[in-house]
Amino acid sequence: MNDVLQQTLEQHRLKHLARFSPDQIAILVQATQLGEEALARALLPLAQQKARVPVSDFTVGAIAIGGSGHWYLGANMEIAGQPLSSALHAEQSAIGHAALFDERYIEKVIVSATPCGHCRQFMLELDQDSLMLVLPQENFMLSELLPHAFGPADLNQSYGMLNGPAGNLVAAGNPQVDTHDALMFAALDEANASYAPYSKNRAGVALLLSDGQLCLGRYLENVAFNPSLGPMQLALSQLFLRGYQPKDIKRAFIAEAAAKVQQADAAEQLLASISSITLEKAQF
Ligand SMILES: [Zn+2]
Repeated sequence: MNDVLQQTLEQHRLKHLARFSPDQIAILVQATQLGEEALARALLPLAQQKARVPVSDFTVGAIAIGGSGHWYLGANMEIAGQPLSSALHAEQSAIGHAALFDERYIEKVIVSATPCGHCRQFMLELDQDSLMLVLPQENFMLSELLPHAFGPADLNQSYGMLNGPAGNLVAAGNPQVDTHDALMFAALDEANASYAPYSKNRAGVALLLSDGQLCLGRYLENVAFNPSLGPMQLALSQLFLRGYQPKDIKRAFIAEAAAKVQQADAAEQLLASISSITLEKAQF
């Protein structure tokens, strides 16, 4: 493998990163003499290596290129002992990753296998008809892969998963929380940045790791309900993408809005299946 590419990947591994800045991409394009799309395809195996697939043994890697020019890796994740509905697909992992860095727009999604129907529906929630999907053999617009779709507009939703308004949940005056707790605020910030236009159940998760780093997750809801991405799923996907292990989790917090739908029980079950840490919870 090209030396510059090798060095960049090693730095990423050491820093627990799973995304690339525009400057790094420019260096890699120059060093490898690959065009951006070819470079993205060349990086897919790196994303696939982050997959956690005890059920299917089928690894999928994805890269979401954000409007800012950052590239975000994603990989599929299955949790043994949990229903298949708790599995996360690589496209969800990559787009959720971009959401955590407040990308408002996705330029392209590069993926190592043809997106399943679940992922097509998930990506429709971006509300970007022109979203480009770079598949192993060919490129498609999402609208070509999902014609005659049931989309956000069908439930009178006027913005997409990444460009909606922030929430206004506040900690002050809430007897369930310690207002000196930084982890609670990290989870609350994610809840306020989450996307829950149908249920109003804004929700966020923050995991504190043994090296002091945080892994975050936010709820990304879907008009078809079932492809919705839970905040704990996204936080655990981040954990594995960044090269951490469940034993690295020291604290876990979920903050969510009181609504007809709730995330805490599912999040608690998911966490319990990989860690003995107790999930701390608060409703706002
Ligand atoms: Zn899928």
